[in-house]
Amino acid sequence: MVIEGFYLDGVTSKRVPACLGILSRHQQRLAITNQANNDQLLCVNLVQLEISSRLGGVPRTFAFESGAQFVTNDNDGVDQLLKVLKPGIAPSILHTLEKNFILIVFSIITTIMVVGSVTIYGIPKAAKYIAFNMPNFVVKQFEMDMVILDKTMFRPSNLSIERRSDIKRFINPYIQEYISDPNTYLEPRLDFRSGMEANAFALPSGQIIFTDTLVDSVENDNELVAVFFHELGHLKEKHMMRRSLQDGIVAIMVFFTIGNLDALEIVSAIPTLLADMSYSRDFEREADLYALQKMTQNGVDLDYFRDVMKRLSEETSDLDKPGSAGTDGPADVKVPEFLKTHPGWRERLLLVDEFQSSAGQ
Ligand SMILES: [Zn+2]
Repeated sequence: MVIEGFYLDGVTSKRVPACLGILSRHQQRLAITNQANNDQLLCVNLVQLEISSRLGGVPRTFAFESGAQFVTNDNDGVDQLLKVLKPGIAPSILHTLEKNFILIVFSIITTIMVVGSVTIYGIPKAAKYIAFNMPNFVVKQFEMDMVILDKTMFRPSNLSIERRSDIKRFINPYIQEYISDPNTYLEPRLDFRSGMEANAFALPSGQIIFTDTLVDSVENDNELVAVFFHELGHLKEKHMMRRSLQDGIVAIMVFFTIGNLDALEIVSAIPTLLADMSYSRDFEREADLYALQKMTQNGVDLDYFRDVMKRLSEETSDLDKPGSAGTDGPADVKVPEFLKTHPGWRERLLLVDEFQSSAGQ
């Protein structure tokens, strides 16, 4: 039995076409000879070398103690040789698995199910735990978010100083009420920016941003109160922080599974997207319910919530249409996915109805 391949002496990079054969079956002795002149290059016992496991069509390597190597594509030949020298040895588990189609399908389905359930159930739980146990000095680091957003997406507000202070004045009592709750951890601050469509954000540092377009589009200031409470709900439940943590955990998991940073971007996008689709909906519902409770407590008519959510959803759906872009933002500004927040208004109006009927209003 002869296996063809090439020999590397471990000193130079020269590849010598060579053959590997059995010298003595009883002593488990192998010899490597030069294919060109039949000179013996090496003679070793089986115990003195390491043979790589079979994995599909990957060439097998015989590594010798001296650092020399014999490499061959003749995987069947190597298996046969091992069968002769070490009868009863089990073939490589990986190779067996790789040859078995049913096992492959089974492994893929199991992997998808495990990754899916970890992504959908495990990661959000972990992120929630981390978010609610994060020391305040770490939370302060998120102040940088605003600096980055100001450099990339936002432009300074063009609203008049009077209008801005007017809004801050009627929002301020709600902020004071929020701070007076001993269970809150941050002092919310209201700020205004332009540069994008009608929207509002609650950043992990406690900053709540209204865009100029939002302020300009409302017909009654109580609509801004509704939006403020919705964002306060996001802040209270640390939604954006939890979402960033979730994305981060997914990215780290993918890195440890695949071990390749290049693949990270493409692969991590898939489970992140899947998870986002299910949990951002929950977050929105949570924030909506918080807003409805707070509006009720403060005697603000829930119709203002209906009005503004419908308005916001119309704005967002216009922007989602292909080929359309925000009118007041620079053309190259792309809204990151994590800031695209609001689901359909019909669903939200139903939630208001549900809330009102459960509250017996
Ligand atoms: Zn929201």
